[in-house]
Amino acid sequence: MCGIVGIVSHSPVNQGIYDALTVLQHRGQDAAGIMTDDRGTLATRKANGLVRDVFRTRHMRRLRGNIGIGHVRYPTAGCSTSAEAQPFYVNSPYGICLAHNGNLTNADELKAQLINKDRRHLNTGSDTEALLNVFADELHRQHGEQLLPEAVFAAVEGVHKRCTGGYAAIAMIIGHGIVAFRDPHGIRPVCIGRRETDQGVEHMIASESVALDALGFELVRDIKPAEAVYIQSDGTLHSRQCGPAKGYAPCIFEFVYFSRPDSIIDKISVYKSRLRMGERLADKILQQHPDHDIDVVIPIPDSSRTSALQVAHHLGVKYREGFIKNRYIGRTFIMPGQEQRRRSVRQKLNAISLEFAGKNVLLVDDSIVRGTTSRQIIEMAREAGARKVYFASASPAVRYPNVYGIDMPAVDEFIAHDRSDDEVGDLIGADWLIYQDLKDLFLSVEYDNSEIRDFDASCFSGDYVTGDITEQYLDDLEKQRSDGAKKKRKAKLRQLNKNNDELDDLCSGSGAG
Ligand code: AMP
Repeated sequence: MCGIVGIVSHSPVNQGIYDALTVLQHRGQDAAGIMTDDRGTLATRKANGLVRDVFRTRHMRRLRGNIGIGHVRYPTAGCSTSAEAQPFYVNSPYGICLAHNGNLTNADELKAQLINKDRRHLNTGSDTEALLNVFADELHRQHGEQLLPEAVFAAVEGVHKRCTGGYAAIAMIIGHGIVAFRDPHGIRPVCIGRRETDQGVEHMIASESVALDALGFELVRDIKPAEAVYIQSDGTLHSRQCGPAKGYAPCIFEFVYFSRPDSIIDKISVYKSRLRMGERLADKILQQHPDHDIDVVIPIPDSSRTSALQVAHHLGVKYREGFIKNRYIGRTFIMPGQEQRRRSVRQKLNAISLEFAGKNVLLVDDSIVRGTTSRQIIEMAREAGARKVYFASASPAVRYPNVYGIDMPAVDEFIAHDRSDDEVGDLIGADWLIYQDLKDLFLSVEYDNSEIRDFDASCFSGDYVTGDITEQYLDDLEKQRSDGAKKKRKAKLRQLNKNNDELDDLCSGSGAG
């Protein structure tokens, strides 16, 4: 998962993009980057790390210009070199930079096509670099002396014809403006904001509306499936449907876990959808355990808080904060793996014993993926003196990989893979376990927007809305994504450059930054 942002302003955008990226930091902590256009000169800074670590004063000073784009990265395929930090840049036509959130499901085909047919060079394995080159190739095919909005939209239409998957992207065409587009199923989110200043109207594009709020932009609307928005450097905004929408199926996991609760996505309040998830979950608990003996509902911080609050309210049971999260958890220097994940739960959370001692507690989490967190937390609750520990998940069992940009592990790493709900409950050590039903999750989210009746819920259902996902694709993905594969990649990288940090610094210093 990643966060993208773009601003066309009448004054320097460096601070604004930096601020927006810090607001979107929850969408990716692996790498960050900004590119700005200073009247035709490109400035760049990108590197691995958190926004606050990547950008120093000296970098910010160099990021001049009133127009720019930014990105925070969370790697989906597992590679973490700074060479793959975004935005990416190509010098022809015009000079284009692109930042992207999502995953192209035909990336291998596209790469082969770009290299063999279009005679383009790709320097990394990133699908973003492929997306940028497809866009550049399509724009290059447009004729005319001036770059007209029609040409930009025709290029985006060409992108939609060639690319499949879930993608929301922002491209900056140097000297001209920025264009943002969303895949024909509208899987990944992206919205437009506007603000009036003394010098005129300014526009901003962002993955989540919370970034607009933070910078004083008003949310205008979401970009529609297959639509593109082109904002010229002078601030003029054009929008166009670039080919047919193939549906409207936003990723439901954005509402379950990824997005901030204070964001509005596709006219749906993430916060309110989580409240409704809590209500429906409570109904199911009451149906299955009408004579329950729950004394207290305790959320697993942070993303389950909103649902847990409403579960407690509907059950008529106390809501208590039983786990405290360390917000300043240090950097982990080892690639994520099962053992590291297990230890990090205990570094991150600590139990307040008095909320557990002698009580029957219901723990609520937004989702159970590998089950590492839930198993550890149940153990901690028992150590803190809980008599019985029940567990409820605000979303259904995760059983299938995500192919549209969320790092959901290889199938056999999901605790619910090939197991019944009761078996999962036993394995995590719960006295009973309840998952939200998929239909209730849909009802909780779609409630605010009657236009949306479908979601990408593939990690729960195994139905992939793009219709192009084969067993072979999932097998290949598994090879790339499993913990074992990630470890091997990391070891190889370490061997290749023992001085990884120095190399990272050198790479990120290239370009105008
Ligand atoms: P686990 O079951 O141990 O894998 O952890 C599940 C918890 O991790 C959930 O409660 C979420 O809060 C969080 N989570 C869910 N999906 C992801 C993801 N793709 N990346 C990082 N954290 C996630």
